[in-house]
Amino acid sequence: MAESKRYDVAVIGAGVFGAWIAWHLARRGRRVVLVEAYGPAHSRASSGDESRIIRMGYGADELYTRWSMRSLAKWKEFFEATGQSMFRETGVLWLGRESDSRMQHTMETLRRCGLAFEEMNRSTLQNRYPQFCLDDVNMGILEPQSGVLMARRAVAAVVEDAVRRGVEYRVAQVTPPRGTGRVKSLRTNTSDETAAEQFVFACGAWLGKLFPEILGERIFATRQEVFYIGVPAGDARFAPPALPTFLFQEDESYGMPDLESRGLKIALDRHGERVDPDTQSRLASPQMVEEIRRYVARRFPGLRDAPIVETRACQYENTSSGDFLIDRHPELENVWFAGGGSGHGFKHGPAVGEYVTSEILDAAKREPRFSLATKKTTQLRAVY
Ligand SMILES: Cc1cc2nc3c(=O)[nH]c(=O)nc-3n(C[C@H](O)[C@H](O)[C@H](O)COP(=O)(O)OP(=O)(O)OC[C@H]3O[C@@H](n4cnc5c(N)ncnc54)[C@H](O)[C@@H]3O)c2cc1C
Repeated sequence: MAESKRYDVAVIGAGVFGAWIAWHLARRGRRVVLVEAYGPAHSRASSGDESRIIRMGYGADELYTRWSMRSLAKWKEFFEATGQSMFRETGVLWLGRESDSRMQHTMETLRRCGLAFEEMNRSTLQNRYPQFCLDDVNMGILEPQSGVLMARRAVAAVVEDAVRRGVEYRVAQVTPPRGTGRVKSLRTNTSDETAAEQFVFACGAWLGKLFPEILGERIFATRQEVFYIGVPAGDARFAPPALPTFLFQEDESYGMPDLESRGLKIALDRHGERVDPDTQSRLASPQMVEEIRRYVARRFPGLRDAPIVETRACQYENTSSGDFLIDRHPELENVWFAGGGSGHGFKHGPAVGEYVTSEILDAAKREPRFSLATKKTTQLRAVY
């Protein structure tokens, strides 16, 4: 009987985290298999929407600002090398009030990290962005070099390039390991054993389902609805360069201009109900449709009667704080968790891939905030 192939690393999950982990491992010359239940950045994955924001501002949280900087450079390098640009430099505009300490902290961090930004007062905002109804907003911070990643296509491109670099990609559902000690191989629903030295579970909202005893109460999968609003015919006010990507924490809202003619994208950054990523309904709820219509009418009077042209229902895979979970399984020495993107993880894919790779190959110094030990069973969101 032929001996079955043994890999250095099996990566489970081809969302943005798993794709970049596999890519970095392959670049370091490792034999890698990437096993995915449905497909790269599929419609039920957190990485599966058209677009995701990449911004540098994280309030006082310099760790993530620096990771965003690193990741944006890596995304651009990747797009350049593969000849397909999936980054749109729309600019990212933070809207708020002078009294908001987070706005002040954001500017301080951007300054410390040497990042370009423009501070705007209300009259500059009004002149430059007459599409917005500013109401109580009296300041803005524009990150001119930030923008949007065309998310699902970008993940597919990373997987494609990883395969070109030697990664074996398989569609199968992996059965998680149990017990203690060292795992030799894992079973899938389609084939025989997948044998490897190390196993990385980059399974987003599924982590809680796969490891219920450890992560069932530590990964909070919450329903998040997203809306695309059809812009009026022949109206360029809601597309770049007229409208940047925007975040408005006071309103718990964010949005993106009309990219690739999908419409103005808008959503509320508020945790929804807990859901199962395999079975939750992907249809917009009537309550959220109503709320979004009211919100769009209030902030964008020019879109008061505009139709909703597309919707998405996705899930965040929150940890208690919003910090990533990148750590070893507490009882299985060669099994790793890589997840907890918590509604802000997409942009960081390249840095996550690099970090996990150096953890596995170089036993690099760990970031304590990513440890399992810091993940609690009640949500106290601290990272935005
Ligand atoms: C509405 C919304 C808006 C967001 N906006 C932003 C944003 O603007 N900017 C930003 O940076 N981030 C944003 N995020 C967060 C970001 O999208 C996620 O943090 C990131 O995509 C998570 O990627 P992942 O690879 O961990 O998970 P996923 O993309 O969910 O991938 C996990 C994969 O694991 C696979 N899997 C699970 N179980 C198994 C198994 N047993 N066998 C094989 N495969 C398995 C799944 O099929 C899935 O493909 C947003 C998220 C949502 C939902």
